[in-house]
Order: sequence, then structure tokens, then C-alpha cells
Amino acid sequence: MNYISTRGAAPVLDFEATMLTGLARDGGLYLPEHVPPLTTGEIAGLSGQSYEDQAFAVMRPFIGGAFGDETLHELIAAAYAAFGHPARAPLKQLAPDHFLLELFHGPTLAFKDFAMQLIGQLFQAALSRSGQRVTIVGATSGDTGSAAIEAFRGLGNVDVFILYPHDRISEVQRRQMTTPAEENVHALAIDGDFDTCQALVKDMFNDFAFRDAVALAGVNSINWARVLAQVVYYFTAGVALGAPHRPVSFTVPTGNFGDIYAGSIARAMGLPIEKLVIATNHNDILHRTMESGGYVTDEVYPSISPSMDIQVSSNFERALFDAYARDGSAVARAMGELKETGGFRIGQGALEALRESFASGRASEDETRATITATARETGEVLCPHTAVGVHVAQAHLSATPMVTLATAHPAKFPDAVEAATGARPALPPRMADLFERPERVTRLPGDLAAVQALIRERIPA
Ligand SMILES: *Cc1c(COP(=O)(O)O)cnc(C)c1O
Repeated sequence: MNYISTRGAAPVLDFEATMLTGLARDGGLYLPEHVPPLTTGEIAGLSGQSYEDQAFAVMRPFIGGAFGDETLHELIAAAYAAFGHPARAPLKQLAPDHFLLELFHGPTLAFKDFAMQLIGQLFQAALSRSGQRVTIVGATSGDTGSAAIEAFRGLGNVDVFILYPHDRISEVQRRQMTTPAEENVHALAIDGDFDTCQALVKDMFNDFAFRDAVALAGVNSINWARVLAQVVYYFTAGVALGAPHRPVSFTVPTGNFGDIYAGSIARAMGLPIEKLVIATNHNDILHRTMESGGYVTDEVYPSISPSMDIQVSSNFERALFDAYARDGSAVARAMGELKETGGFRIGQGALEALRESFASGRASEDETRATITATARETGEVLCPHTAVGVHVAQAHLSATPMVTLATAHPAKFPDAVEAATGARPALPPRMADLFERPERVTRLPGDLAAVQALIRERIPA
């Protein structure tokens, strides 16, 4: 299986190189040359299988010769072994036609664990085979960073540097990044917002001398292997609700567009997804773009769903590439305009294609809080604020087709917002109960490329 860049001017790579590289050298994102379909019979055959076996069936065609069947089975088993639920991604019912897909049973209590735990296994297998060492650098609005640190802590051939916006993430998120004691873990608090952190990471990848000198590898949500891992739970949920014989819809709390883009890959593989709904908080650039056709960046306004507080949504570039019928030069032009002017207009044909693929909605802070309160009262389910954004938006899209809202984090990750809405403070699972006693280790830096690069060069082995 070959991978091509959304900007059409980077080398074609195989799965392993795509995974280890992250961002393409032309600034674009890698995508498979073709999306391999599953037949109706193959999709029907997933029914009743374990999460791990379904993951193997869904991901196998994308991985090519990078890992043999037996190895891939083992890596998948290891990735999900530490999850706190045998179904891995269990479904719960909220209303006759509305379900929650609980994606927070992994070690850091957010859906990012699904991709990151697997990528940790895949990286380790690939690097120990080649004897390479890499420096992983990532930006996080909270959950990616802790998931990456959890997946890579203590691995011999990897250093992991995570940039997060100082004072703009929850205390649980911060402590999950600053308390691991392993030497190869480096938490960096950056003065700025998430977009500052993300821009620093992008600039490091575009500085080829630095990129090659430290063997930079990216595990941000632009990494194709992460998107691929997230395709799996669309299938497990869809099949549990009657696919391929019955269609299903999904609403996805969205920031960087990685999770929902995985849904569009599941659909391209043959899963009958009727609606795929983008749910945003008041940082609603994606919703505004779908309404107006203009992608116009604004400030980032802090919210109670901080993992969605962004204006530049990296994986949206993949959806644009599809919408422009895979014309890399059209995407490169739009991204150039974005960098120069802070926005771009989507052509009419591409906008229609996007609207055919995705619906959208937004939830204000008040609507998010009210949804947490009402859902707890009516069903007993306690939602995290991100999930509540999804549930609010999904309610406007309910129909006879079952709707699945992705529950992207455990409520105990955002205890202040949840307590304010329900009156009860959600407890951390017992295995994390001592998080607030563990010592923290973090380096604070200005949002300055040279400063971050200097620190990375100093910390990694010569
Ligand atoms: C990362 C994250 C999101 C947004 O997911 P994207 O793939 O960036 O769109 C939503 N909710 C939570 C809890 C997250 O951690």
C-alpha cells in the first residue's frame, strides 16, 4: 500500500515510512493512494468478533508488508490489553435512537489512547527491527500529549517531547504529562495557546536540517497510523447496531478533525454511514466553514472542552483533498493562502462535496453545561464536556437511523466543569487515584522555535 501527500509534492512512502515520518516533506498529510474496500460479507463477518479481531480485519489491508499477520495480531493485543473494559469501546444507550460510544477506557481516559497505544507498539516493533532511534515531538491541547507519553514512556529508542499551552489544560491532563518519571519523557509548557504549540511543531518538521539531525518523528493526529487506528471503532459500533444491513450515523466532538476523518475512511471502506456530524464548541471554525464556504481563523477562546479549543484544524486538509477530487495543487494553494492571510475560500464544487460528506453543528458553553445536567438527570450518564458538545449537536440530527455520539473522554478528566453542571465530583478510576500526590517535572518555555529546538538538542543523546 502506497501513501501520497495531500499537497502532491512529497515522495510516495509505504506504511512504515509514513508512520515514522508523520508530516510529509511538502507540508502535506499522507493518505493511502486508494482506500481498500471491505465487501458486505466481510463487514457482516465482523459481527460478534472481539475488538482486536475486528481491528486486525479493518487495518490489515492498509499496512501492507510492514508487519506480518502474526506480529500484527500480537501488537494489537498488546495495545489494548491495559484497557479497563473487555469490549474496549462499549456502546451505551441514551435514547431509543441515540447511543454513546465510550472511548475512554484506556490508560489516560480519552479516545486518543486507541491510536496512541497502538502506535507505541508499532513504533517499538519497527525501531527495534532497524536499530533506529527517533525524537517524537508533539503538540497537545491536553489529551494527545498524555496519551503519547503513556504510550512511549520508558521505550529505549525514543525520546518524547510534548508541547502544551501553559495554564490552558486541566490539572488532570497536566499531571498525566508531568508526573511520569522516565528520563525519555519531556513535558514542555509553552507560553501561548494550542495553535502556538502546533505551529512550533510544524515549523520543526519544516526545518529539514533540524528534522534530520534529531530524527524527528510525529505522532500528532496528522499521523496516518493514528487515523487508521480510529477507523476501527466506527466498524465495531456500526456492526453492533446492524451494519452492513442497516445504516448508522455518527456525531463526533471535533477539533483537529482526526477522529471524524477516520469515520469518513470507514465510510469509504463500505460501512453504511448515513450522517457524519462535526460537533464544535464555541471555537466553531469548522461549523462556520461548512455554512459559508470560507475558512477564516479567529482567536482561540478558552472553553470547558479544551481539547477542542483550536482554530487551525490540521486533518481538515485531508477532507479538502478528497473534496478537491485529490488535487494536491488546489490544497497547496488553499494552505498557502491560510498561512499568508489567515483564511481561504473553498471552491463551490469542493464545498458541495464536503457538505455531502459531513453535517455540522456547534454548542455554546451554556448548551454544553445544560446537556451535562440534563443527561445526568434523565439517564444517569455523566458526560465529559467534549462528549456533551457532541450529544447537544447530535440531538438536532436524530432520525430513524441510529445515531452514535462518540464519548471522547472520561468525565473525571474534567471534574470542575462536570461538578458545576451536576453537583457531584466525578472520581478518577482507582488506578489513578494517587495522581495528585506524584511529583511533577516540566520545563516552561516561550513560544519561540529557537528556544524549543535548543532544548531538544540538549536533551537527546548525541
Ligand atoms: C482530541 C480530542 C477531541 C478532538 O478530536 P480531533 O481528532 O482532534 O478532532 C475531542 N474530545 C477529546 C476529549 C479529545 O481529547
